[in-house]
Amino acid sequence: MFVVMQAGATEAQIQGVIDRLVELGFTVHRSTGVVHTVLGGIGPVENIELADFEVMDGVKECHRIMSPYKLASRQLRPGGTVIKVRDVEIGTPKVVVMAGPCSIETPAQVEAAAAAVARSGARIFRGGAFKPRSSPYSFQGLGEDGLKMMREAADRHNLLTVSEVMDQAQIEAMLPYIDILQVGARNMQNYTLLKELGHIDRPVLLKRGISATIEELLLSAEYVLSGGNEKVILCERGIRTFESATRNTMDLSAIPVVKQLSHLPMFADPSHGTGRRDKVIPMARAAVAAGADGLLIEVHPDPDRALSDGAQSLRPNQFDELMRQLRMIAQAVGREM
Ligand code: PEP
Ligand code: MN
Repeated sequence: MFVVMQAGATEAQIQGVIDRLVELGFTVHRSTGVVHTVLGGIGPVENIELADFEVMDGVKECHRIMSPYKLASRQLRPGGTVIKVRDVEIGTPKVVVMAGPCSIETPAQVEAAAAAVARSGARIFRGGAFKPRSSPYSFQGLGEDGLKMMREAADRHNLLTVSEVMDQAQIEAMLPYIDILQVGARNMQNYTLLKELGHIDRPVLLKRGISATIEELLLSAEYVLSGGNEKVILCERGIRTFESATRNTMDLSAIPVVKQLSHLPMFADPSHGTGRRDKVIPMARAAVAAGADGLLIEVHPDPDRALSDGAQSLRPNQFDELMRQLRMIAQAVGREM
C-alpha cells in the first residue's frame, strides 16, 4: 500500500504513520516528492483497513498497490522519478544519450570514441570491460584495465560512465570508475546480483532479458528498489521472437507501457535491438518519438575492426547526424536534448 501525506504534513505526522505501519509488520520506503511525501508500505496489506490510515493526522490519501511490483509502480510516484548522476539528470524532459563502443579495446579506441560521442552531445560514455559473450572463445573484455582506460577517457571529455557488471564479485572493482552499473539482458533475472545492487548507492541500468515480459522486468527492478537503492533506469534492448531479419525484435511498445506502469526512467537500446547499423538510426528516432527518457547507442571509431558488435556500431559521423535529427524529434514531442 502507499500513503500520500498532505502538502504541509509535519515530520511528526509522517513519523506517526511510519511507526504505525512498522507496528503492523510493514517495511516502509519513504519518498519525498516536490509537494508530497509518499510512504510505500510492503507488508500484510490484507490485514489492514485503509480508513484507519486515511483518518490519521497529515494523511491525504492511501491506496493498495495491486501490481505484483510495488516500489516500481507508477502509483507510488505519479510524477515520475528523476535520477541525478553527478551533473546529469535522468527522467526529466531532457533526453539523455549514453554512447560508446560495445567493448573497451585499446587506449586509442577509447579516446577516439569518447571524443566523438562527447562532440556530438552524448553525456554518458558506454563501454564493456566485462563482456557477456555467447561464445567462450569470443573476446571477453579487458576487465579492470578497461575500466581505468574508460574513466580516463571519460574524464578528458567530461562524460559520465556506464559499464556492465556481470557478477557481484565485480561490483567493488567497478565503483571507483563507473557512475552507472549496467545489468545486461542475460543477467536481468540474476537475483543474487540484483539484491547486491540493492545495497549500494549507485544507479543501475537494468536491461530487459531477451525473453522477459515487461512485468518480469519491473519485478527485477523491484529487487534493487526493495534493497534500498532507488536509482534504477530501465532499458528495452530487443527481445527474441521468430523474426530473423534483425538480431532481436525491438519492442518499442514497451516504452509507453513501462512509462504508464512505472515511475522509473525508461531507455531504449536500438543497437542490440536491431543488430544492424542501418536499422539503429530509424529505431533510435522512433524510440525518442515513443517517449524514451534516453538512449543507449553503440558507436565505434572503426566499427569494421571492432572486437564485438561492429555490425551494429555507428560510425562517429552517423552518430553525429543521428543526434542532430534526434534534437528535432525531441522538440516535436515536447522533449529537449
Ligand atoms: C551491451 O550493452 O553491450 C550488452 C551486452 O547488452 P545486452 O545485455 O542488452 O545484450
Ligand atoms: Mn554490445
